[in-house]
Amino acid sequence: MTRGRRSRIVATLGPSSHTPERVAELARAGADVFRLNFSHGSHDDHARSYANVRAAEVAAGRPLGVLADLQGPKLRVGTFVRGRETLSQGAPFRLDLDKTPGDSQRAPLPHPEIFAALRPGADVLIDDGRIRLRVESCTPDHADLRVVSGGVVSDRKGVNVPSVILPISPLTAKDRRDLSFALELGVDWVALSFVQRAQDMAELRRLVNGRAAVLAKIEKPAALDFLDEILDLCQGVMVARGDLGVELAPEDVPVAQKTILRAARRRGIPAIVATQMLESMISAPAPTRAEVSDVSNAVYEGADALMLSGESAAGAFPVEAVEVMDRIIGRVERDPRWPGLMDAEHAAPDDAYQDAVPAAARVAGAAARVACIVAYTSSGSSALRMSRERPLQPILALTPRMQTARRLALVWGLEPRIAGDPADLDDMTSSALEAALASGLAQPGQAVLIVAGVPFGTPGATNLFRLAYAPRRR
Ligand code: PGA
Ligand code: MN
Repeated sequence: MTRGRRSRIVATLGPSSHTPERVAELARAGADVFRLNFSHGSHDDHARSYANVRAAEVAAGRPLGVLADLQGPKLRVGTFVRGRETLSQGAPFRLDLDKTPGDSQRAPLPHPEIFAALRPGADVLIDDGRIRLRVESCTPDHADLRVVSGGVVSDRKGVNVPSVILPISPLTAKDRRDLSFALELGVDWVALSFVQRAQDMAELRRLVNGRAAVLAKIEKPAALDFLDEILDLCQGVMVARGDLGVELAPEDVPVAQKTILRAARRRGIPAIVATQMLESMISAPAPTRAEVSDVSNAVYEGADALMLSGESAAGAFPVEAVEVMDRIIGRVERDPRWPGLMDAEHAAPDDAYQDAVPAAARVAGAAARVACIVAYTSSGSSALRMSRERPLQPILALTPRMQTARRLALVWGLEPRIAGDPADLDDMTSSALEAALASGLAQPGQAVLIVAGVPFGTPGATNLFRLAYAPRRR
């Protein structure tokens, strides 16, 4: 079963999607990669979710990716006796280190480093900036604040202190525990939150040590300042618009999204656009016009993947949200203007060694009107370089490694499948045609373009392409 679209869908798992049946439904509806959000849930929950994805993968008949999202030094309020409280504008409110659940007067904020850094006049934002409190006075263990913008605050909502620089490590003790747990499970991708500098990614890579692919969540203004250095150490990137939109002015976020997508495209690494894509579908069966437009625009920009967070993890319409996203992507990709807009700034070949053959294959494939491109890839890099060219034919990425196939489930236009290394060029041609026919991407009699690197099985550059025709049925 293949997708009739190029942009991919990442669905976050949570209470609304914790059963095997629901995960299978999400995969059927169009989810390609599943996010385990380590900001919520226990290790048992994530182990169950992981097993559910692997079961859904068998039913789906195609590789599904699993992305472990590490919380990073995300600041959160503690819990409330009633689970939630309404803070009204002008009211006093205290945040402190006392772990006792909060009420209408105070709440726990279990981060001593915040109290150490806060000063009167600084703003503390809660729940993606929906609630704004201003510090009136503070000590090392509490702060007295005034509610500037009120609203409902509930258990463990995120806290941002944009004007305060917190000298904290990119990986907390919890992240390190979660990371080794996630690697033990066998996740395909690891995402690090609140990356500020290249050394944060260097630290993650050292710990992961090749056992998964790594991506940076760009959600701090500092990360935009060091974007190139950070992306040099990344195998993927996420435009984490939730926290980014709190730390930056909202009008800066679409600009940052374009900057990050372009930088990722140039490098040939996948980029995910995340947060509030179909937010209203947490509680409604249909999205708003603005949400549909936002999702469409990300597809027109050639984003590799679009992510659902609360919509699939905690909403009332998780499957519908994936279906709506699938339909929006499909609709944009049927627009005759889409190729031109999506590839408006076609990335010029960047690496003489890796890009020459994929760039030529794109042109040859279009000229020969091939039904699909078949890319042999062992580490995944040949398939990534082919996707980077943004050919309009789907790319069947054949790899002997399950881990590579699952990682590639996140990437624009790739249909990863497992296949052994060919013995020789004739075997390459017949196996590629067989796989193209079996996947449904090519029909008997159609042309297929095969790209590969010889000798087979040695990771390295793509150095040949061959045009072949699927045999007509006898
Ligand atoms: P989060 O990351 O959902 O883990 O906060 C995404 C974002 O900030 O947009
Ligand atoms: Mn975030």
